[in-house]
Amino acid sequence: MASTNELISRIQELEEQITGLQATAAQTEADVRTAAYQEGQNIFKTIFEESRLGNKVIDRDLTILQANMAMINLLGYTEKAEILGKKIIDYTPPERRKDWKVLQEKLWDHSTPSFSLETCLIKKDGTIVWCQVTSILFSDQNETLGYTIIEDVTEQHKLRMQKEQFIGVASHELKTPITSLKAITQLMNRKLAKGGEITENLVKFGRDSDRQVTKLIHLVDALLSSTRLEQGQLALNKSTFAFSNIVDGCCSHIELDGAYSLVFEGDRRLEVFADEQKVEQVLVNLINNAVKYAPESKSIVVRIEQLQAFCKISVVDRGNGIPQESISKLFDRYYRVPEIGYTPGLGLGLYISSEIITRHGGEMGVDSTLGEGSTFWFTLPDRADV
Ligand code: ADP
Repeated sequence: MASTNELISRIQELEEQITGLQATAAQTEADVRTAAYQEGQNIFKTIFEESRLGNKVIDRDLTILQANMAMINLLGYTEKAEILGKKIIDYTPPERRKDWKVLQEKLWDHSTPSFSLETCLIKKDGTIVWCQVTSILFSDQNETLGYTIIEDVTEQHKLRMQKEQFIGVASHELKTPITSLKAITQLMNRKLAKGGEITENLVKFGRDSDRQVTKLIHLVDALLSSTRLEQGQLALNKSTFAFSNIVDGCCSHIELDGAYSLVFEGDRRLEVFADEQKVEQVLVNLINNAVKYAPESKSIVVRIEQLQAFCKISVVDRGNGIPQESISKLFDRYYRVPEIGYTPGLGLGLYISSEIITRHGGEMGVDSTLGEGSTFWFTLPDRADV
């Protein structure tokens, strides 16, 4: 039989073993928790660092605590040290600082779990980058921080601005002929109501209203073609025809007003394989532009030449020409050369024309010298199997 002392010491030993086991269990649990935390941290870090979108962590003062390389590059910097510890407000134009105040209030004052807004930031070189910002609140060691994802939406912003501006211009352009038409028809009605014969004035009113309707048709055609192009719905109905046919036909569509002459140069028999109506639209647009933007050029030359498997068509004017810096943007949608006076237009004609030519497998371009004039040219295949 064991003595009482032996029993007590055995119990103590067991107690010590239990305490040891409890400590080991607690340690293991802590280790597992740390490993899980570490794994979570690693995943978070990988997503944070590797994202192609700008990622940063900010505190309630909008101080940048962490940022990934995409964020650094978005602001035009190369080193994290240049940005960490700075406030996002330091990169914000004064007039947009209110955007970040709103974000600050929504997240930290009203505990909104996430918040999105569009704003802009200033890059290292002073240029502006438009951003879609999404911030999500999260807790880290008893502090509430904002995980912020920033996407560069400068291009989309520019396009939206262009579109808004375009809608303004288009409405103005449509309103002008409509207002003239209204005035003309009112005058005609008044004259006709009085009875009497058809005077010279009345005939002139008739001609004027026809001119305004033609303007409206051109504008609506341009708007429709632009929309169709955007939706990829420009179907081509190709055939082989002599290009000189459409030059002859064009004269009736264009208001040369007797003050301008259209001169055809080249072989009248040269043929192209293309959509006759669409190509006519391109030619009418180029000739109308020559009349509109080079009014001092009294003769407009349409030249055709044979190049290997293509025909090259050029429309030559002797106007003021186009500034070098505008040339590369000329075929962009909505682009118009900045000018002192105001010439009506939507900035769509050259864009539509170049799209039509490209879809035929041809090319379009312009050679222009200030003070000497411009040559707009395009190429088209001369037969079906090119
Ligand atoms: P719109 O005439 O409606 O403005 P376009 O796309 O046809 O649109 O032309 C774009 C711009 O190109 C015009 O605003 C004009 O400044 C310039 N341009 C076009 N043709 C000529 C030309 N023959 N001479 C000088 N500038 C031209």
